[in-house]
Amino acid sequence: MSSTPDSFADLGLSETLLKTLIEIGYETPSPIQAQCIPVLLEGHDLIGMAQTGTGKTAAFALPLMEQIDVKLMKPQALILTPTRELAIQVAEALQTYAKNLPGFHVLPIYGGQSYTIQLKQLSRGAHVIVGTPGRVMDHLERKTLNLDNLKTMVLDEADEMLRMGFIDDVEWILERTPAQHQTALFSATMPEQIRRVAQKYLVEPREIKIKSATATVAAIRQVYWQVSGMHKLDALTRILEVEEDFDAAIIFVRTKTATVELADKLSARGYAAAALNGDLNQQMRERVIEQLKSGALDIVIATDVAARGIDVPRVSHVVNYDIPYDTEAYVHRIGRTGRAGRTGNAILFVAPREIRMLRTIERATRSPIAPLTLPSRADVTNKRVSDFKQKVVEVLNAEGLDFFSNIVSQIAEEQNVGAEEVAAALAMMAQEGKPLQIAGEDPRPAPAPSFDSRDSRPRPGSFDRDERKPRADRGDKPSFESRGERPRREERPTRSAPSGDMVRYRIDVGRDHGVQVKDIVGAIANEAGIESRFIGRIALYDESSTVELPAGMPGEASNALKRTRVRGVPINLRPDEGRQDGGASAERKFDGERSFKKKSFDR
Ligand code: ADP
Ligand code: MG
Repeated sequence: MSSTPDSFADLGLSETLLKTLIEIGYETPSPIQAQCIPVLLEGHDLIGMAQTGTGKTAAFALPLMEQIDVKLMKPQALILTPTRELAIQVAEALQTYAKNLPGFHVLPIYGGQSYTIQLKQLSRGAHVIVGTPGRVMDHLERKTLNLDNLKTMVLDEADEMLRMGFIDDVEWILERTPAQHQTALFSATMPEQIRRVAQKYLVEPREIKIKSATATVAAIRQVYWQVSGMHKLDALTRILEVEEDFDAAIIFVRTKTATVELADKLSARGYAAAALNGDLNQQMRERVIEQLKSGALDIVIATDVAARGIDVPRVSHVVNYDIPYDTEAYVHRIGRTGRAGRTGNAILFVAPREIRMLRTIERATRSPIAPLTLPSRADVTNKRVSDFKQKVVEVLNAEGLDFFSNIVSQIAEEQNVGAEEVAAALAMMAQEGKPLQIAGEDPRPAPAPSFDSRDSRPRPGSFDRDERKPRADRGDKPSFESRGERPRREERPTRSAPSGDMVRYRIDVGRDHGVQVKDIVGAIANEAGIESRFIGRIALYDESSTVELPAGMPGEASNALKRTRVRGVPINLRPDEGRQDGGASAERKFDGERSFKKKSFDR
């Protein structure tokens, strides 16, 4: 394992926050947290270099929360993020970490949201503001945001802000913050301009870099599944079922809570599974490992720390259900399989936003990780049938079959049916409780897209797809992924097709980025000031999408759209060269200009 302290308690955090971390199931600090938290608590400025998924939010959020005076209803910390999605996500994380700090208030402000609402929220007061640079700038200009009491300033994903063209805005804001405050800058990379900003505005910053050590991983088959279209749990059971040579597995998750939840769910599905986490005392941990060795358990769901050093030769599979924080953790995790000269299998679940970590792991381990196609229902059924046949054949060769042959003959005679039918009835009996055909449906086609997030009510059996809803622990939980196998294309309901001249554009985000129609509508409506009812047909493909927009888009709107990102991916809006299939609305006329709001080109 990395040289990470085992405990948050070693980092100097208050009892209140330590209690919260236990409650939300964080067991150990991630490397960036372990290194940044003490430095920030000491009041130093800081440059943190680590990529997505390494736990940066808590790394800066926990120390800054220690400094907040809850009785003072004034902004005391400002966090700048490149996108509104991130602003919301970071604000939600802070709210979660503040669960034992009554009265603590965090406010996300971002472009596209109505000023009236934001003004109301700002005047009510907040301790922490999380915002996109453009909108923060606006509020500073309008004097609706006052930073006189600022203690901490965080630039989250600074390189992204640079890439999106916000660096001047960021500097503008930095110029206008009071001299006395702590500044933390986080970035996955350190381009020259970011370095320059850091030199100019940070005071003797400590630099913390999470490096990816290279390591070799021999004799292990490594594959990944990009989380999409299906709940992680369903995907997991499908994969485990058809994996060749499956004997036993260790499944890695991030939190203690998740170990228990997943163990319960797998047990309910008939697996011999148990949780292994830091809450178990040494004796209990040893018992779980013994059971895994002896075959009393087939699956252990563990956190990194709890699984440290496990050496159980029958572990044929390691599943990274939640992606590890760094390559070192990855290497340690997958080292739990392929032991004692056997071959091992490592399966990694990767959410769209974690693709970069996947590439880093590949680079660090110098071994490519191949994509895994999720087994279909038919694959699972075939596997079950072939296993079943195999079992029957084994019994055919067993002794003492005569007694049963007699019974079969009797039944056949008495019922006047063939032996084949009797065998079929017996087979049916034999599969009772463990059906050969997979229950439920194959992932359904994605539900009819709704472009207004207000009507994205979860339907029975589906998952909460409204990503703006406050949620305790976002990010790596599977259930927010859109569900359903991908239809070739998905369109907005035709009833909403606006009339008038429409132009079809192509954008570089699609289903593979985890994007839904409403994300695209939201981004365009907000960033180009086009009312959603004027946005035409949207077709989602795997890697790109097309969207119809009114002809005659003003230059500023189209500029705003060039910079727009959806789910962090630049959409690169451009006229679509592709064929115009079924653009039914091209004939009718309307005044295209009218559909563009004149102001609010906020990022
Ligand atoms: P980053 O900002 O580096 O991309 P996040 O701060 O968004 O990463 O964290 C990624 C995920 O990891 C989140 O779901 C978060 O709740 C979880 N997480 C962060 N720190 C811990 C920890 N110490 N233990 C368990 N889970 C954690
Ligand atoms: Mg982050």
